Amino acid sequence: MKLLTNIGCLAGLEDKPAGCKRGDDMNCLNRLDDAWLLIDGQKFAAFGSMASLDSALNGCLGDAVIEERIDMKGGWVFPSFCDSHTHIIYAGNRAGEFLDKINGLSYEEIARRGGGILNSADLLNRTDEDELYRQAMERVGEMIAKGTGSLEIKSGYGLTLEGELKMLRVARRIKESVPMEVKTTFLGAHAVGRAYQGRQGDYVEMVCTEMIPEVGCQGLADFVDVFCDEGFFTPVETGKILEAAAIWGMKPKIHANELAVSGGVQVGVEMGAVSVDHLERTGEAEIEALKSSSTIPTMLPGASFFLGMPYGNAKGMISAGLPLALASDYNPGSSPSGDMRFVGSLGCIKMKLTPEQVVNATTINGAYAMGLGDVAGSITVGKKADFFVTEPIPNLAYFYYAYATPLISEIWLRGEKL
Ligand SMILES: [Zn+2]
Repeated sequence: MKLLTNIGCLAGLEDKPAGCKRGDDMNCLNRLDDAWLLIDGQKFAAFGSMASLDSALNGCLGDAVIEERIDMKGGWVFPSFCDSHTHIIYAGNRAGEFLDKINGLSYEEIARRGGGILNSADLLNRTDEDELYRQAMERVGEMIAKGTGSLEIKSGYGLTLEGELKMLRVARRIKESVPMEVKTTFLGAHAVGRAYQGRQGDYVEMVCTEMIPEVGCQGLADFVDVFCDEGFFTPVETGKILEAAAIWGMKPKIHANELAVSGGVQVGVEMGAVSVDHLERTGEAEIEALKSSSTIPTMLPGASFFLGMPYGNAKGMISAGLPLALASDYNPGSSPSGDMRFVGSLGCIKMKLTPEQVVNATTINGAYAMGLGDVAGSITVGKKADFFVTEPIPNLAYFYYAYATPLISEIWLRGEKL
C-alpha cells in the first residue's frame, strides 16, 4: 500500500457512491484539510486528517503493509477530471480554418478551403487506422497530463459505415492502451455523409439499418449520439435513431440545443438519455422536462469560448435543482482543447459558477454523465485511485483564477504515479 501524508487539502471526498450532485448540493465540495490518503493497489483504501494518522496506524490500519510513504508537502489532491464529451479521434487539424475565420471568410469559402465536418470526414476516411490512433493518442496524453482520468470518445467524422467502424475500433484500441476508463459513443448522425447530400432521410435509414446493427454486433459502442439541432437532425429522426440503437443496448447521449431550441432535450429525456449535451439555447420548457428525469444536462463552455457563442444558462439549471456536468467537447472545429481545468475556469468566469460547483461538474457529475459514477469522480474508498496533485495553493478559487499557471504537479491513475 502507498500512504500519502501532509496533503494540504483532500477535495472531492464521498463516503460512498450516492448519485450525481444536483441543485444546492453542487455548492458542497466535501474536503479535508491537512490530510493523509491510503492507496491499496488500484483503489483508494482510506483517508483521514493528519491529526488522526498515528491512532489510525495503531488501530484500524494496524495490519496495513505500507510499502511507500510519500510526503505531499502541502499539495492539494483532487479526483481526476471525468470528461464525458469528446471527439478526439480525427485526422489533422483545422488551424487553416481558424486563420480563415480570423480573416473574415464566409462559411462557404471556409468549406471550399477544407473546413467543416464533411472535410474532416474526407480526411479521416483517407487516413489509415494506425495513423489515426497515433494522432488521437497524442491528444489523450495531453489530456492525462492536464488531469483527466476518465474519458468518453465519439465517432462521427467517418459518416460512412467503414469510417465510423474505423473510428470506433481506434477508440477501443485507446481504451485497451491507457490506464483510464474510456466509454465509446456511436455518432453516425453527426452530419449527413457526403454521398447522401440532399437525401437526409436515406442517410438516417442507412444509419438505422446498416451502421447501428454493425456497431451493435461488434460491441463497439456504449452509447449512441445524434446531432439534434437546426440544420442537422430533427427530433423525429433522432427518436428513430435512438430506438434503433436501443435494441443493441446503446443508451442515448445527445447533442441538443446548441444552435436553436431544437426539441433535442425533450426527445433525449423521453428516450432515457444518460445526458443531453451543449444546451446553449435552453428555456423553461427544457428545464421542466429535465426536472422529471435522470438525464444529466452537460454543458461545453470550451466550444462557446472558441466560437464566440452564448454560454447557456448553467446557473438557472442548478437553481432549478438539476445536476450539471461540464465537459471539454475536444474536437477540431469548435473546441481544440481537452483542458478540463480551463473548462472549469470558463465555468467560473463566463457562467458565474462557483469553484465548488465546477469541481463537482467536472468530476463526479461528469462520471455519472458517462455511466461511471460507481468507479470514478470522487475520492471514495473502493473507487479507482485516480487523482491529480497541485502545488500548495492558498484556496480553491486560486486554482481556477490563476487559470494558465501550471499548478498541476503530479498525475496518478489506478494507484500509480505517472
Ligand atoms: Zn460534441
